[in-house]
Amino acid sequence: MPPARPGDPVAAIDTPALLVDLDALEANIAAMAAFARQAGLALRPHAKTHKCVEIARRQLAAGAVGLCCQKVSEAEALLPSGVGDLLVSNHIVGVEKLARLAALARRARVTTLTADAAHVALLSAAAIAHGVTFEVLVEIDAGDDRMGLCAQDLLPVARAVAATPGLVLRGLQAYSGPLQHVRDAGARAAAAAETARRAARARAILEAEGLPCPLITGGGTGSFLDDGTAGVLNEIQPGSYVFMDADYARNRDRGGGPYRPFAQSLFVRTAVLRARSDGVSYVDAGAKALNLDCGMPEVAGRGDLSFTKASDEQGRIEAADPALAPALGEALDLVPSHCDPTVALYDTVVAIRRGRVEALWPVEGRGART
Ligand code: PLP
Ligand code: MN
Repeated sequence: MPPARPGDPVAAIDTPALLVDLDALEANIAAMAAFARQAGLALRPHAKTHKCVEIARRQLAAGAVGLCCQKVSEAEALLPSGVGDLLVSNHIVGVEKLARLAALARRARVTTLTADAAHVALLSAAAIAHGVTFEVLVEIDAGDDRMGLCAQDLLPVARAVAATPGLVLRGLQAYSGPLQHVRDAGARAAAAAETARRAARARAILEAEGLPCPLITGGGTGSFLDDGTAGVLNEIQPGSYVFMDADYARNRDRGGGPYRPFAQSLFVRTAVLRARSDGVSYVDAGAKALNLDCGMPEVAGRGDLSFTKASDEQGRIEAADPALAPALGEALDLVPSHCDPTVALYDTVVAIRRGRVEALWPVEGRGART
């Protein structure tokens, strides 16, 4: 059963449900597109955040050059958006998955990552076997010590990509996850500058060898302003900006206030199942309705209510003043602490505008694990 029907008032939405406020979503999509245009950066939103064709369509209509996906299955699910340029920003292994990546490459321009000469051989074998070309970015260590290469190890892999049939070297992936969540604005800018230095050094290494490096991509919702200033990336791949979450609000802006370059558009609507007389209430959203790896959600517009604990199917809410505690049956909108893994728990986005349900959008990429 869908949680609501278009035209319903929000009060009619069955809970728990994933809500997206369309005014806020549209403003966020427009704001990031305007920033990228002004900064002279290509914008390739990361679709792992929403996994939703309708949102991808809006991002592309606002001028995005293409989309990032983290999974082959996510990319497959988002093809109906009309995307023509897909970056699968991950290292793809496995005969079956590489065959699917090749099938994608018949329907869109497909770029993917590598950081290993043995992996280059796997990509090449799949491209040749299926008669397609994969464009490849060499992933550098952007300061996060994950899968990317340090400067001294870069050249053999880049050379291998450039020299190997079936593959085209498109440039560098320079994304740092931890950088996005550095709380202090000055420290975040310094970390983004360090990522930019690493990317510039990697580009110089490729150029000195006569290797092409037209694309240097990275950057996310926490770093996009600093990535623009640093001036090395020519493409950004932010994801969370469409929705925002309570964890991003813990970043600070330059004035020391909460980091809010975008509006909160994503909510989990929950209902009070039990209202105790001491001001403690229980709602119908717990760990199966909210991803909690970044902590508990907040209650939108109710700074006096704290979501203190979650069990599988219930959340505990404590009111600062028991007299103002929510009543039995009352609906509350929660701001998830971490947007993308929360969205991945839902089949449907309930798109609302000014108190009414405007549309229901399937989360086509839900369950896309492969
Ligand atoms: N690029 C890559 C490779 C990512 O893994 C992510 C998210 O984790 C992003 C971009 C988008 O980051 P954010 O959601 O912080 O904007
Ligand atoms: Mn995330």
